[in-house]
Amino acid sequence: MPDVLVIGGGVAGLFCAYYLRTAGATVTVVERGPIGGPQSCSHGNTGFVGTQGSAPLAEPGVPAMGLRWLLNPSSPFFVKLRPDPALIAWLWRFRRLCTAPAAAATSRVLLDMKQRSLAILRDLCGPGTLTADGMVIAYRTPEGFDRARRTVPQLSSYGVPLRELSPGELSELEPGVEFDISGALYNEEGAYLRVPEFLGELADRLAGMGVELLESTEVLGFETAGRQVRRVRTSRGDLRAGEIVVAAGAWSAAIARRLGLRLMLQPAKGYTITLKNPGGAPRRPVLLSEGKVAITPLGDRLRLGGTLELSGMSTTISPRRVEGILRTVRAHLPALSPAATMETWSGLRPCTPDSLPYIGRASGNVSLACGHGHIGLGLAPAGGRLLAQLLTGAAPDLDPEPFSYRRRPV
Ligand SMILES: Cc1cc2nc3c(=O)[nH]c(=O)nc-3n(C[C@H](O)[C@H](O)[C@H](O)COP(=O)(O)OP(=O)(O)OC[C@H]3O[C@@H](n4cnc5c(N)ncnc54)[C@H](O)[C@@H]3O)c2cc1C
Repeated sequence: MPDVLVIGGGVAGLFCAYYLRTAGATVTVVERGPIGGPQSCSHGNTGFVGTQGSAPLAEPGVPAMGLRWLLNPSSPFFVKLRPDPALIAWLWRFRRLCTAPAAAATSRVLLDMKQRSLAILRDLCGPGTLTADGMVIAYRTPEGFDRARRTVPQLSSYGVPLRELSPGELSELEPGVEFDISGALYNEEGAYLRVPEFLGELADRLAGMGVELLESTEVLGFETAGRQVRRVRTSRGDLRAGEIVVAAGAWSAAIARRLGLRLMLQPAKGYTITLKNPGGAPRRPVLLSEGKVAITPLGDRLRLGGTLELSGMSTTISPRRVEGILRTVRAHLPALSPAATMETWSGLRPCTPDSLPYIGRASGNVSLACGHGHIGLGLAPAGGRLLAQLLTGAAPDLDPEPFSYRRRPV
């Protein structure tokens, strides 16, 4: 069994470590911050892991909508246009993928991975960490609701349990919560993880299994011989490993570049706002579909998440985008009482143009587990299992080709 060094202690790296160790490998995780810390995109997100939301970012209509949103400083989408060849290449590829056939094909792959991941999470997590009692996808406009309804037969045929709810039926499901919407879909398999607590629990489990977790240890470079990495230079000395897995989220592109690998990966900043004890809050997770805002109930807290900003590696919080999220929430939930904001956080989603992660060997003894984009919690469990199968020579339980570093560009 190989001796593996995983770079990055976010959800992607931890699930690789979990399945590699389960298969008998010796595993070390190197994380530059604390595991589950706010530097990681896995820290403060909205935690949705159910079978909803398997659509890629590149869909028909997105370029036109994106252009409109570009002019609005509080919109859910923003590209900071700059003469960066990597960004231009990424946008070019993304644009070409905004077709119905490409989106449908990718959606099937993502849904399959999300279904497998949800099954893994159901086995692994206790009820305090994973809540799996359904979610609501709400539509403010009749046109938005009509469009969504038309997708229900196909999604149902793929095993996503969706049913339509009128505003009145939603009130019965969420008594005491005032929604200003045209209609909603209800997914009884809606589920969410409580983060960052989930990461802490997973890290404890890994430590108990014998995985070495090196926190506050930054990978600075590599000593290579041909395509093989001999040593990994870190802020706390050199490390040796038989196999290297780059699972460093949005930082993976820079790390891979040092190894001669070119990833199509852009950081896409998003925000969450965590409120303390707001009145009139839903008890179930809700996706405000047209406004691209997710709402997660966390006991006496409510987390609101949204925005996708292609503005480089900065995590600076823009008050206008935060206000945009709050405005969207107020428009859908007019009676939500004002509450104290406990935390405003931003994270960098590691996004590929096709919304598919890179999983598998890229060159020599270097493998990738990065690019999980906007649904990394929902993809990482099955992705980590696939990576471990590929590295340990076990038969992969899903086709690795869509996740290959060398996958054919559209
Ligand atoms: C606002 C928001 C809401 C979201 N909501 C959801 C959701 O509801 N459901 C869902 O599935 N996904 C969601 N996501 C996406 C999800 O959070 C990401 O896909 C996922 O966290 C990516 O995990 P990762 O492990 O690849 O990256 P990260 O969690 O960022 O982990 C990478 C780690 O690598 C470490 N690292 C980087 N460089 C080095 C180095 N040189 N040496 C050592 N360590 C290094 C970093 O410190 C970091 O901890 C959301 C994201 C955002 C921003």
